[in-house]
Amino acid sequence: MHEMALCEGVLDIIAEEATRQRFARVRAVRLEIGALSHVEPEAMRFCFDAVSRGTIAESARFEVIEVPGEAWCMNCSKPVAIARRFDPCPACGGYKLQVTGGDALRVKDLEVV
Ligand SMILES: [Zn+2]
Repeated sequence: MHEMALCEGVLDIIAEEATRQRFARVRAVRLEIGALSHVEPEAMRFCFDAVSRGTIAESARFEVIEVPGEAWCMNCSKPVAIARRFDPCPACGGYKLQVTGGDALRVKDLEVV
């Protein structure tokens, strides 16, 4: 389950921010998860609960913002929405797509005390 490693990465980011901004407690974590990122939001939530225990982010609210997949279709010369990587273009059915969004995982912001 790679979500465990990803959650540890999120906690590392939180720890760095805590040092920089000098906060003592995290009340909420907002995470953007792209539809094409191969990350399961529910698995992230579960792992975060486990790895945040005993840290400043313990019992923080964990909010997931799901970012839809987006790609540039070279046939249509326009951006299109896709649900999964390697899906065909919904407009022309072609496969000449370049993923442009929704393939990342990132900490959007933190609510801190
Ligand atoms: Zn197309």
